Amino acid sequence: MRRGTLLIHNGHETDPASGALGVPLIQTSTFNQAAYFNAGPDAKAPEFDYARSGNPTRKALEEIIASLEGGAAGYAFGSGIAAISSALGIFSAGDHVIAAEDIYGGSYRILNTFYSRWGLEHTAIDSARPEEIRRALRPNTKALFLESPSNPLLKISDLKTCIGIAKEAGLISVVDNTFMTPYLQRPLELGADIVIHSATKFLGGHSDVVSGLAVCATRELGKRLYAVQNGFGAVPGPWDAWLVIRGIKTLRVRLEAQEKAARFLCEGLREHPAVAAVYYPGLEDHPGKKIHDAQASGAGAVFSFKTKTAEQALRFLGRVRLAAAAVSLGGVETIASYPVRMSHASIPQAERERLGISDTLIRISTGLENPEDLLEDFEQALGEV
Ligand SMILES: *Cc1c(COP(=O)(O)O)cnc(C)c1O
Repeated sequence: MRRGTLLIHNGHETDPASGALGVPLIQTSTFNQAAYFNAGPDAKAPEFDYARSGNPTRKALEEIIASLEGGAAGYAFGSGIAAISSALGIFSAGDHVIAAEDIYGGSYRILNTFYSRWGLEHTAIDSARPEEIRRALRPNTKALFLESPSNPLLKISDLKTCIGIAKEAGLISVVDNTFMTPYLQRPLELGADIVIHSATKFLGGHSDVVSGLAVCATRELGKRLYAVQNGFGAVPGPWDAWLVIRGIKTLRVRLEAQEKAARFLCEGLREHPAVAAVYYPGLEDHPGKKIHDAQASGAGAVFSFKTKTAEQALRFLGRVRLAAAAVSLGGVETIASYPVRMSHASIPQAERERLGISDTLIRISTGLENPEDLLEDFEQALGEV
């Protein structure tokens, strides 16, 4: 089956009990175990006993994401950050993690605050230079944490090369695949051990649910992550799991249209006198394009651009009508965000400047509006220069 078909026919397209087209929403906290007690002393414990440990609706989502990513086991969480925190929770105090320096702002924050306090050490590297991974290795290094394309400058890391170095050193590679989704990029096929998603973004797809997912390459790793999922308890409710299941069905058509719009806007914005630079891995002159094309089947629907002055950026955000000036991405509505005050506000200013995250930078996630309307709106919002 091709990827688009797999989004629909993934083993959960029909409920075997009722024939319903879709997964039933099982809204319960607990399960009646009388049959188990009536079955005698040798009976197998029931699969579902308490909904933190497992819920049939959540299980359907976990199986769907595992099959889409090509992994052995999937796990759902209450948010993307809950998925990331739980994945990091398989490590111990005294372990060391190597993380890309331009990972999602919230991932940076959890490593620098919560996990530093609990004794998980980390080193930030530029993962566009894989040799930096080797240099950062310590005897206690246990994991490599990557994201490609990165946020918000869409920098590309060679996942296969980075993961290869991690494998030689016996590390577990974790890749946040939120920007690409399994429709465009499958890190497990490139050797990764754990893939993470903020399902809040493209998988949910409608800006109406906060959710997270993780997929493990092996059952053994899956058992370690399940112990954190169940023990730490950052699970989603069944209704949120159900919304993500529904969102996934339209992922292909949404992404294809959104990617076209992103390309159209990037090409239009490049011509605008107020725009200093456009960052999108779909552009011919993007420095990571060749590597990206080798590891993903599309450039996605997130890009960023820099205006010439900070005033122009602020004016754009205040004047733009068809893009919501908001955090988040991946929804059906176009979103314009301002990383210095939003997703990357928790990164110290000096560090932000070093990374190129300036007060002229705007990140766009294209929605499903007509691209021509979006470009006209962006042009009026950028105004006369
Ligand atoms: C949004 C996002 C997260 C965090 O997900 P939440 O669902 O907001 O907790 C993690 N990684 C990336 C790349 C994101 O865009």
